Amino acid sequence: MMPWAPPVHGRGQRVKLGRGDPFYASSAWRRLRKWFLQRNPKCVDMFRVHRGPERATVADHVVPRRDDSALELDPNNLRALCTRCHNRLSAYQRKRAEND
Ligand SMILES: [Zn+2]
Repeated sequence: MMPWAPPVHGRGQRVKLGRGDPFYASSAWRRLRKWFLQRNPKCVDMFRVHRGPERATVADHVVPRRDDSALELDPNNLRALCTRCHNRLSAYQRKRAEND
């Protein structure tokens, strides 16, 4: 069973994270995510693909929840990503998971 849902590739569609995972629907997470993105409005550009600042839409867990769920609500374990970087990261992680 996969603990996360692969991103939906669609035009201008918002990536739905962890569909079916009650964590992402919890008010604790939604509050934290909103708070985090207000304080970190720009994508951290972890792949260095942006020419200028890009608005972040995703609060991504640095240590995945499946690796350490104790960090799932720790703001220090979050990074701000735009949809494009998040899609790129998901593809990268999926590839790594397949190669394991
Ligand atoms: Zn980005």
